[in-house]
Amino acid sequence: MAARPAPYLDSLNPAQREAVERLDGPVLMLAGAGTGKTKALTTRIVHLLNTGRAAPNEILAVTFTNKAAREMKHRVGSMMGQAIEGMPWLGTFHSICVKLLRRHAELAGLKSNFTILDTDDQLRLLKQLVQAAGIDDKRWPARALAAVIDNWKNRAWTPEQVPASEASAYNDKGIALYAQYQTRLKELNAVDFGDLLLHMVTIFQAHEDVLAQYQRWFCYILVDEYQDTNVAQYLWLRLLAGGHKNICCVGDDDQSIYGWRGAEVGNILRFEKDFPGAHVVRLEQNYRSTAHILAAASGVIAGNKGRLGKELWTDAEGGEKVRLIGHWDGEEEARWIGEEIEAMQRGTRGMDPLSLDDMAILVRASHQMRAFEDRFLTIGLPYRVIGGPRFYERMEIRDAMAYFRLVVSPSDDLAFERIVNTPKRGLGDVAQQKIQRAARANGVPLVEGAAILLEEKGLGGKGAAELARLLTCLSRWGRMVGDKSLSHVELAEIILDESGYTEMWQNDKTPEAPGRLENLKELVKALEQFENLQGFLEHVSLIMDNESEDVAEKVSIMTLHAAKGLEFPAVFLPGWEDGLFPSQRSMDESGLKGVEEERRLAYVGITRAEQLCTISFAGNRMVYGQWQSQMPSRFIDELPEDHVEVLTPPGLYGGGYGAAGMQSSIEEKAARADVYNSPGWKRMQARAGQRPVSQPSEAKNVVIDMAATSAHIVGERVFHQKFGYGLIIAIEGDKLEIDFEKAGTKKIVARFVTGADD
Ligand code: ATP
Ligand code: MG
Repeated sequence: MAARPAPYLDSLNPAQREAVERLDGPVLMLAGAGTGKTKALTTRIVHLLNTGRAAPNEILAVTFTNKAAREMKHRVGSMMGQAIEGMPWLGTFHSICVKLLRRHAELAGLKSNFTILDTDDQLRLLKQLVQAAGIDDKRWPARALAAVIDNWKNRAWTPEQVPASEASAYNDKGIALYAQYQTRLKELNAVDFGDLLLHMVTIFQAHEDVLAQYQRWFCYILVDEYQDTNVAQYLWLRLLAGGHKNICCVGDDDQSIYGWRGAEVGNILRFEKDFPGAHVVRLEQNYRSTAHILAAASGVIAGNKGRLGKELWTDAEGGEKVRLIGHWDGEEEARWIGEEIEAMQRGTRGMDPLSLDDMAILVRASHQMRAFEDRFLTIGLPYRVIGGPRFYERMEIRDAMAYFRLVVSPSDDLAFERIVNTPKRGLGDVAQQKIQRAARANGVPLVEGAAILLEEKGLGGKGAAELARLLTCLSRWGRMVGDKSLSHVELAEIILDESGYTEMWQNDKTPEAPGRLENLKELVKALEQFENLQGFLEHVSLIMDNESEDVAEKVSIMTLHAAKGLEFPAVFLPGWEDGLFPSQRSMDESGLKGVEEERRLAYVGITRAEQLCTISFAGNRMVYGQWQSQMPSRFIDELPEDHVEVLTPPGLYGGGYGAAGMQSSIEEKAARADVYNSPGWKRMQARAGQRPVSQPSEAKNVVIDMAATSAHIVGERVFHQKFGYGLIIAIEGDKLEIDFEKAGTKKIVARFVTGADD
């Protein structure tokens, strides 16, 4: 039979072509960002189909997100020039495992109609177990247990397999509770997310016949973003590929960014061991980015040790250097980026006009999104948040807003329902039904219904006392709304504190809790820009309304994690400040592991850009509710200067901002003027752009610190915008210990003080 034409091969380079055409046996494609790994993988599917090696349903292809799966299906279809008859096994690990587990549920002690618990259900269940075991769930929150169990499941450990070295987890009770939890899930005919893989691995291990059936069925296996697989996923793949060994994995060790979720970059290194004779393909040409962008990314990632090491090149010469700009604070950063986006839409810097779809803002922490969302709303710039709820849709924000709504309008029943038992007040379903009945019987809102219920002694125990307390608080907060001596921002803080809501997250030991607290602080900060609570609530309802509006073109906002595999002509990377990026947590960790993962995230961020990459940082940021002076990220020092252009911060008096709802006072402008003219700011600018990068990074830091502090000496009299005049009593790196005349002794980052005589 004559070979069918394969025009899709023509657009590949020889290395890619090799990876596509070598269909049999294990293949590992190990290559840097933008080298066409995903393209080659997609073409490989097309080739399998076109050569008749496999039918669509015999190919198992794993992507990292559902979105990536949809895109891959779409591309395969368009390369084939026809809609393909389904590819049921192209999806994420989870979506594929759900399908498999439904077929074999009984082998895991489940029925095929099992339910998949969401995080809330999972926590409720764990909490019941924790309480039943007589454990104080204030000290040992159920969320912490959930995190421990999740981690074990990622390693493919059933309760019996958890090693003794983990015995101390969750106050020595982790393993026993894990076993009880699994039993309870079976009784409920339910699984959690981690179970999907764990059950499948267990089934395959225990039932050779079942495994053999799928080994034969999935005659070709393909995996994208292989560097981010965890142990359970890895075992699952190894089992399935164990027969024919036709497995092709593509990945980039420099883009491994899910270590915190159990991913093991070591899986790449094990590949050649587990699949002896594996054919390793290396791709070196980057087709995505300009030379400047690529050089910047390579410069940063070079700071990591123990890399497999890859060369990358591009023939896309020219283009813009990576742009770097410092701002006064996060709000200003958002305003500037908003203006840049509008300028790019019109066409700027000799570039063709870009569509909003061509631009993305990639943040390190989701709380950074708020400033952009608010700003874009104000100027009417359509945006979408990818891979997560938009700021005002987050659980903690909705909860807090429900409190505010209830204080402003006590008849807001939906708000009442949302918060009556959040934090937990012992007002479960039964109590809530009683409140509903009392309200309906009297034709009044729930708040009043609750008061009537209490009056009639229709509720007893802890719930009654807590409800009474909540009602008293609500009416007191309501009176405060009209109190002129109290700002609405202070009131918001009082509400979040007295309601116990902030405390609920403070006591929460899960990895998400700090992020949620941070979001709450962001919310309070957003309030500052409005005159009162009412105005703010209206603003937010507008945002929510905006959602339904169907505008085709939108700027994308997402976290760096969610940006994996994607590409955009123009990319903004805001918030490059130590403590934010790299995150404080990674910096606090002993050893380099944490910061190295952050550095890989920086590499992922920069390499998303095709034509223009703009990195920014702010000198001030609200961190945990306090204004903090920020140092530019250490990653900025690592950007090779030849490939970076340092931009001047926007002009002092407005630069045409016309900021609605954000009037800077004269003092603020003066303060800004002072900072921009201060030696500290200039040093920061200098540091941002003109570091030699060929030196090892430690030596560089020494240079920087000396540069940053050399302008000051112990005993010098200096001025700080907020604390006034003082004497330097010690110098430690870039921090000055200053004895202020009025404010006492404080440690201040050098760039925020000026010589008293400047
Ligand atoms: P990442 O590591 O970021 O996931 P990747 O290696 O998967 O990147 P792709 O997304 O497959 O890279 O490709 C990057 C870009 O380069 C895409 O726009 C793709 O269409 C293009 N590309 C890939 N290979 C070629 C080629 N041989 N010729 C022209 N363009 C190519
Ligand atoms: Mg890819």
